[in-house]
Amino acid sequence: MSDCLFCKISRGEIPSERVYEDDKVFVIKDINPQAPVHLLVIPHAHIESLNDLSEEYGALMAHIMGLLPKLAKEQGLDTGFRTIINTGRGGGQVIFHLHVHLLGGGQLPGF
Ligand code: AMP
Ligand code: ZN
Repeated sequence: MSDCLFCKISRGEIPSERVYEDDKVFVIKDINPQAPVHLLVIPHAHIESLNDLSEEYGALMAHIMGLLPKLAKEQGLDTGFRTIINTGRGGGQVIFHLHVHLLGGGQLPGF
């Protein structure tokens, strides 16, 4: 997807504050943080949203789930963290390239 923002960031065509990267995913600081720590965990593969997942992405999603607590620990989020996946316009998704928000620091308000 040549015009997708996160694909461009994945390819290094747009700068970002990268905190982690491997062959499956990259992790950047959100440009408009909603908590003291606000990271985005993004697969390199262009998947639009949870609605577009198929079984072939099972290992990728398990990889992301396993990475989240490691990133939280690295960021010093010892008392806990929040993860959010917005799906579709009605779910508040703005960038249609699947990503997981990782938020924490201080005491997050309840839902
Ligand atoms: P969503 O509403 O789930 O699609 O979230 C998109 C997120 O991407 C928002 O939290 C934005 O602040 C964030 N964002 C947009 N552009 C950038 C960028 N260039 N670098 C880092 N984060 C971004
Ligand atoms: Zn993309």
